[in-house]
Amino acid sequence: MLLKGNQGNAYSDEISSLVTKVNNYDKSYYVSSVEKAALFSRKHHKGQLRASGEEYFSHPLEVAHILADIKLDSLTIIVALLHDVVEDTEVTLSEIEEHFGSKVTELLDGVTKLTRIENKSESVVQAKNFKKLILAISKDIRVLIVKLADRLHNMRTLCHIQKPEKRYKKSQETLEIYAPLAERIGMQALKKELQDLAFNEVYPEVKASIMTRLELLRSSDGKTIATIQDIIASILADSGIGAEVSGREKSPYSIWEKMQKKMVSFEQLSDVMAFRVTVDNVEDCYRALGAIHSKYHMVPGLFKDFISLPKKNFYQSLHSIVIGPGKKRVEIQIRTKEMHRVAEYGIAAHWTYKQDEFYYPDVKTNNWLKELINILNTSSDSGEFLENTKMEMYDDQVFCFTPKGGVVALPKGASAIDFAYSVHSDLGNKCVGVKINHKLAPLRTLLQNGDQVEIITSKDHKPLPSWEKFVVTGKALNEIRKSIREEKTKEYMNLGRVLLAQLLEKRGIKMSDEILNDIRSFYDKNTVEDLFTTIGEGRISQNNILKKISSMHSDGNSHEDEVELSFPQQKSINQVSIKGLIPGVAVHYAPCCSPIPGDNIVGIQQVKKGIVVHISDCEVLQNYSQFPETWLDLSWDRDSAKSVYSAMLKVVCLNKPGSLAVIAIEASKYGCNISNFRISSRAPDFFDILIDVEVRGLSQLSNIKTALLSKACIHSVERFSKD
Ligand code: MN
Repeated sequence: MLLKGNQGNAYSDEISSLVTKVNNYDKSYYVSSVEKAALFSRKHHKGQLRASGEEYFSHPLEVAHILADIKLDSLTIIVALLHDVVEDTEVTLSEIEEHFGSKVTELLDGVTKLTRIENKSESVVQAKNFKKLILAISKDIRVLIVKLADRLHNMRTLCHIQKPEKRYKKSQETLEIYAPLAERIGMQALKKELQDLAFNEVYPEVKASIMTRLELLRSSDGKTIATIQDIIASILADSGIGAEVSGREKSPYSIWEKMQKKMVSFEQLSDVMAFRVTVDNVEDCYRALGAIHSKYHMVPGLFKDFISLPKKNFYQSLHSIVIGPGKKRVEIQIRTKEMHRVAEYGIAAHWTYKQDEFYYPDVKTNNWLKELINILNTSSDSGEFLENTKMEMYDDQVFCFTPKGGVVALPKGASAIDFAYSVHSDLGNKCVGVKINHKLAPLRTLLQNGDQVEIITSKDHKPLPSWEKFVVTGKALNEIRKSIREEKTKEYMNLGRVLLAQLLEKRGIKMSDEILNDIRSFYDKNTVEDLFTTIGEGRISQNNILKKISSMHSDGNSHEDEVELSFPQQKSINQVSIKGLIPGVAVHYAPCCSPIPGDNIVGIQQVKKGIVVHISDCEVLQNYSQFPETWLDLSWDRDSAKSVYSAMLKVVCLNKPGSLAVIAIEASKYGCNISNFRISSRAPDFFDILIDVEVRGLSQLSNIKTALLSKACIHSVERFSKD
């Protein structure tokens, strides 16, 4: 590292080059004080270092250079040199007044206030003081200009010198407050640099993905910027227009901004090249436009004439997008040299070109300030004002890419499932997995800005009810519910078909189209499927159907008495095994008792729920004692043990470290997963813990119970039922 700072006359060369620079364009009263201010600042900042290790004075000196480069008046340069003196050294404002007079003091006071507001961390404080900030600058806009240059230099030297959180915060502030302010006073060049520096910090992944795609575009596209630039230049030369043409690739930030504003994908955003044509006078602007339009088609609706209708910040230019060489869309801006100066330096350009007389706009003559003060007077609270001034950052949204580069905008908190549904319903319904930035990730993963999301699908897959918890978009939620509803209807239909077949079989009747049709028309259903569904849902009781079947067969049938006699027997339990119900039947395990294979079980046919399986001595079953027709006698199929079932255990254990770990270790020893864990009561001596364990059957569960009971810290273990 250069130890320039240790010498007493550090930065002498830079100081004299600054003085020369300012002398070249400013001959006013204050020029003589520029060197004095530099030396004063160097003297008082002496011994202070920047986080980078450089002497602190290098910072105000650089800020002054930034402003001298855009030819700001010497008063502004002096304030820039002194801008941190009052805040960071022992120097007082009255000393400043003594040495530099009241005008410098007034401006410096404004800058110092802004610095103090800036250093307050809470956003409320910031919002509240933002009004003061604007009021302060509205007295003299040069205060804001110094502050913007200060911020620019701090952003330029941001890397590796501060904590990541602080860097992030400064960068966000830059995007939300300072860049829009620079835009408002028309300082394009400064605004762009601020945005690009901050963008890199706040959205590094988005920037990286845009850079990658730009790279791709460059290599795939034959026409380079240089070629197109030459082509445009020769078109203008052929028309006898003296012009300078310069081409550039748009900055990653401006590309991103455009993608957001227009909600287009990078691929659709083909005009990533921009060309500027600078001519001598206004007439040539329109001639140049004519020459280009007669050679290349303009894209309708995108031509803008900011020469006859300048922007509020005085910006003037002709903008057009044409289908240029190689059928590439290119953006073209045509302006005079003077317009270009205003575009780059904005308000600063307006008072530096009045020969030796320096003039700076005051509130009366400056539209921008008038408008700003108007907002201040009409906004009731400063938060609202900040809101109006904040650039639209869409910070409630995330932007992700499809593998092909399309942009998908989602609300913050969206998951891969939301992404899939927002691309296409079918993609959502069939999605089984996701690759985020080329790596497999859980479907519930929250998406971040710039993520590339690739959905993996399977033809037979159906949405799961648990997905409802991971989605935030209405479309995804709707589609998931719709699909689950359809699935359920199918299950009920199958269940209804099985139940009806069994009822008929018991009455010795074969299921035929004719009989089904009779029953269907009796219940006034449009289709046999509707009939099955209604029966499956339990909306027609089996008793009712039995009566109907019996009455149907009583006509001209001598078995009437028999039917009457046998009817009461049907109140007994239906003989349906779980195995028998399996094809497409909705079966639920009752959450009150959580049956597992090995338990004696019964099923209850419930409206809209299908069959709910309970342990046969579950207390909840009492509620159904009045409705024997809803009971189904179930038994476990031998294949049941191939799945896992959830059982609840209540464990009472000592309130001491390690007790919970013992439970987890024992459960895993017996190959069972704990799916839920909650402490139901916590006394100084004992815990009551409810755990949901996933087991294959009763014997595995009793193994775990025994193992737990053998531990010293476990007091008791019981199978648990909710009341
Ligand atoms: Mn500073």
